[in-house]
Amino acid sequence: MMEPLFDKVAVIGLGLIGSSMVRGMKKRDLAATVTGFDGSAEVRARADVLQFCDVIAETAEDAVTGAQLVILAVPVGAMAAAAQSIAPYLADGAIVTDVGSVKAAVVRNVASALPEHASFVPGHPVAGTEYSGPEAGFAELFAGRWCVITPCERSTDASVEKVVALWTALGSTVETMTPEHHDIVLAITSHIPHLIAYNIVGTAADLEDVTQSEVIKFSAGGFRDFTRIAASDPVMWRDVFLNNKDAVLEVLGRFSEDLAALQRMIRWDDGKSLEDHFSRTRAIRRGVIDAGQDTADPDFGRYHGDSD
Ligand code: NAP
Repeated sequence: MMEPLFDKVAVIGLGLIGSSMVRGMKKRDLAATVTGFDGSAEVRARADVLQFCDVIAETAEDAVTGAQLVILAVPVGAMAAAAQSIAPYLADGAIVTDVGSVKAAVVRNVASALPEHASFVPGHPVAGTEYSGPEAGFAELFAGRWCVITPCERSTDASVEKVVALWTALGSTVETMTPEHHDIVLAITSHIPHLIAYNIVGTAADLEDVTQSEVIKFSAGGFRDFTRIAASDPVMWRDVFLNNKDAVLEVLGRFSEDLAALQRMIRWDDGKSLEDHFSRTRAIRRGVIDAGQDTADPDFGRYHGDSD
């Protein structure tokens, strides 16, 4: 059997992503011991019952003492507080990484809170579901998905190598880019789509001439897929928009212009332009399927995985 990559790993935040990482690491024997900690006593108790960690620590100090790798898996807005809570207890040479959906703000807030003897490798697994909490996690969440690593001034080559090895062992393909580039790419591929979903579901709820039961009854017309995305965790997504403000506003400006162009095509009965536009977007969908990021099954064919 292969040697584990790490002796002791500490995971701070035992929600969907943190608990999936623990499950994935344990299933593949990537760490001899995984200690989990969550700021919420209730989440700690639930994680204890689920038994996916070797140890559930009662404090951040107990969790990170002696750990070679510490994973911050808390909402983006809580990263600074989580980093401060572990900083005094980090072992010499400890590697800290995170899984936040925004990178430039996390680099700013976390790097400055960590002691010189620790390195920091910012990361973002581009994998998730609309569920949250320790019950929602599963070992295969990251298999066949991308993970973006955005090295910063506090990342040593050796620490980047270790974190890349971890994600690769969890089944992900790793791509490296700057935090700023990550934020603009994710603004268009993830953040704006979520904002559109939150908006359209809100609009439907507020329409006076259409009843709620009609919205639900006829949701298979397209609305249903937006409701799935709009069910995503409110705290996580509040933090994403507040911390990726510049990139989101920049892409939203472009989006609004393009929406106005579509509006004009409809107003002026410009069927040719509408059809051309929809043909172009259909080709993008084919590209997503060809790249293995979704299946061609109807209803998006999404695999939500089993808890294990
Ligand atoms: P989650 O299921 O809500 O879990 C986060 C957990 O962290 C909660 O139990 C929370 O407790 C705890 N927490 C908050 N502040 C803390 C602190 N200072 N110290 C210790 N624990 C703390 O969230 P998640 O979906 O796993 O997301 C975690 C991170 O992954 C976020 O940064 C998110 O941007 C990123 N991410 C999410 C997805 C996704 O699809 N969900 C995908 C990729 C990356 P309380 O609830 O009591 O605050």
